[in-house]
Amino acid sequence: MDARGPAGGMPRRAFLAATLGGLAVTLAACTDGGPTPTPTPTRTPAPSPSPSAGGVPAPEAFLRSRWSRDPFTRGAFSFDAVGSTPELRTSLADPIADRLVIAGEGTSADAPGTVHGAYAEGVRAARTIADLADEGDRIAVIGAGIAGLAAARTLADAGYDVVVVEAGTTLGGRLRTVEDDAFGGPVVLGSVFASDGAELRPILAQAGVATRPFAPVIEVRTPDGTVVESSAAGWDAIATAQEWAAGNSADVSLTNALIRSGAVPISGEPGADGLSPRDWLRNAISTGVEPTTGAAPTRVSAQRFDPDLVWRPTSRVVSGWTALIDRLADGLAIAGSSVVTNITVGDEGVGLRLDTGESLRMQRVIVTASVGVLKTDTITFDPPLPLLHQRAISVLGMGASDVVWLAFDEPFWRADAAGSPDDAAEDANGSTDEPAAAADGEVAATTDTDANVFTLVGATPTVAAWLDVGVDPRRPILLGILAAEHARRIAELDDADALAAILAALEPFAAP
Ligand SMILES: Cc1cc2nc3c(=O)[nH]c(=O)nc-3n(C[C@H](O)[C@H](O)[C@H](O)COP(=O)(O)OP(=O)(O)OC[C@H]3O[C@@H](n4cnc5c(N)ncnc54)[C@H](O)[C@@H]3O)c2cc1C
Repeated sequence: MDARGPAGGMPRRAFLAATLGGLAVTLAACTDGGPTPTPTPTRTPAPSPSPSAGGVPAPEAFLRSRWSRDPFTRGAFSFDAVGSTPELRTSLADPIADRLVIAGEGTSADAPGTVHGAYAEGVRAARTIADLADEGDRIAVIGAGIAGLAAARTLADAGYDVVVVEAGTTLGGRLRTVEDDAFGGPVVLGSVFASDGAELRPILAQAGVATRPFAPVIEVRTPDGTVVESSAAGWDAIATAQEWAAGNSADVSLTNALIRSGAVPISGEPGADGLSPRDWLRNAISTGVEPTTGAAPTRVSAQRFDPDLVWRPTSRVVSGWTALIDRLADGLAIAGSSVVTNITVGDEGVGLRLDTGESLRMQRVIVTASVGVLKTDTITFDPPLPLLHQRAISVLGMGASDVVWLAFDEPFWRADAAGSPDDAAEDANGSTDEPAAAADGEVAATTDTDANVFTLVGATPTVAAWLDVGVDPRRPILLGILAAEHARRIAELDDADALAAILAALEPFAAP
């Protein structure tokens, strides 16, 4: 937290009063922990150098997110639960009484659950409100994630008087980035990928957010560490289920469609490698469906699930999101540590009540709290939201996903322990730019055939996938992605128990 933020010593009430008095006071983007209720990054104390059970060495550092426990997020991203449609998301974005607009990744019909979808929705909401606003209107934006900051930036640049009200003590919401020397730089605790929305790319470039191409090369292992050839049997079963579901007027869950299409029961007869089509279906669900949606197939819409989103080539953010968040927030009036508990929409304007008991009067408001938060009574609306908005909030799902970062002495999981599979760094325009470590030859040359995603078949994995994201061979780094109920379960554990469960999940990848 830098001196501009409330952690610089300004008590919350004074900070808010100063902001509302017209001072442009901002929070620092992301950086250190503070009293934030967010996915508190947690570090284990320096682990013992002795190897842990199963041949996995003790990590040098451990960081994780716990998004499902964050009261101001309540999960990682929205997903299409049974009955969801793009129209439902559009209806959630409809202006209410010409004064209130909801925005964020959850309202994006084109790119829900993504960074670029959230950004575009923030800009869209700002334009909608600007069309409705009168000159001199004061506009509140609830939430300083990317949607809220994009909305506030757009309105401020158009000359409106804007105040951003953020519950946490840092900016960026689900793009939270922390600096940690043990990992050699920024550690992203939310979206580690820069989804490729055309609108976002130039903005990433202007802000100087560095990315690397990430072309997934997946290695699948059995619990005893044997590397096996992937089989399409699981995805074939899901395709059969989705074809069946597409012909139905009523949506059903993926599980239901698997059963009713006849794709399940699926053979449990092991092949020569000891694996059955049932094992491969479980692999497709736990390492594909669940990390993509954050939900179990019992909840995911069979009609809406898009298998093309699973492990497709993308870009990974290597510099963290801080530069983008700082750029969007520059000069904005932002009240931090301020939880909006009630929004009252009347003929004359909008009243906001905060958890401090303070009230604000504005003319318009944009609400960017997640679908997960809107499902709770964290914010009450008076009058209640229109029925179509309530329906959208109730039908859309909020998925769970967490990241776990582990730094090791040796890249024990790599076939060639000296190299990193990451390609050269790519700037936001897509050109490549070797990082400093590579320029002096410290990062080994990479090939397209190096595995950089590791998954398990033959058992249900606690960690859906391990990504090899080490940029420096001297500090090999694994990024684990947890999803659905596994993410929720591990998020409930204390650090010691969580780390034990996570290291146990790595055992197949430590086998020779
Ligand atoms: C683990 C993980 C992996 C992801 N992977 C990807 C990926 O691969 N690709 C991709 O494109 N996207 C990914 N995402 C999703 C992406 O990060 C989000 O879609 C995007 O950041 C959401 O931005 P937002 O502004 O809509 O919401 P948020 O970032 O949630 O911002 C909302 C803000 O509102 C604040 N708030 C909530 N309630 C209140 C209140 N009552 N009063 C005041 N403030 C409040 C919150 O504190 C928060 O700061 C991932 C997210 C996570 C967590």
